[in-house]
Amino acid sequence: MKRLGVFGGTFDPPHVGHLVTAINVLHELRLDRVLLVVANDPWQKAGLPVSPALDRLAMVEAAVADVAGLEASSIEIDRGGPSYTAETLAELHLREPDAELHLIMGSDAAHLLHTWERADELRDLAALVVVNRPGAPATAVPQGWKAQQVEVPRLEVSSTDLRARVADGRPLKWLVTEPVIHVISDRRLYAERR
Ligand code: ATP
Repeated sequence: MKRLGVFGGTFDPPHVGHLVTAINVLHELRLDRVLLVVANDPWQKAGLPVSPALDRLAMVEAAVADVAGLEASSIEIDRGGPSYTAETLAELHLREPDAELHLIMGSDAAHLLHTWERADELRDLAALVVVNRPGAPATAVPQGWKAQQVEVPRLEVSSTDLRARVADGRPLKWLVTEPVIHVISDRRLYAERR
């Protein structure tokens, strides 16, 4: 049976915290692939400025282009509308009925899992993988879930800080990969914010 990791996010921009998480969970859980699923419309961030989905997808593609086992997924962008993980997992299950799905998230996201749309459906479709995230409370694995915690190197990096760095002209080097820096500068992302 294939073992597939599903790591959803806004990825605005994708950073080393995301990549280190994805590659370590791939390794620790012996997954075949981890999909970095780019949210089309991240409804949990309603009211906050979010870069166009295709710009975020281009950054994630650039970030994982030469990384074996990590893949950018446009499944939520192709579907359009608000991005509900329950729908994404259901669609992945239809596409790959034999795959075992592992839903990966940082402890900050896991802390809010009970607020997610159709959380009970999620529970039936995937096992949960919670990774520690600096600054987020340690989250107990939610009741009723098949779940485990994976320790990954703690990197205190957030997309929010990176957007502010671009706007201020501070360096991104080593916080995001070089190909992502090129997409940000080619598409002039974040420069106008603040
Ligand atoms: P923002 O600062 O804009 O809220 P973010 O840095 O939290 O963005 P997201 O794209 O919202 O990034 O996160 C997607 C997933 O990655 C979430 O499950 C989140 O918990 C996880 N994540 C983000 N940053 C880290 C990090 N530094 N270490 C571990 N997990 C992370």
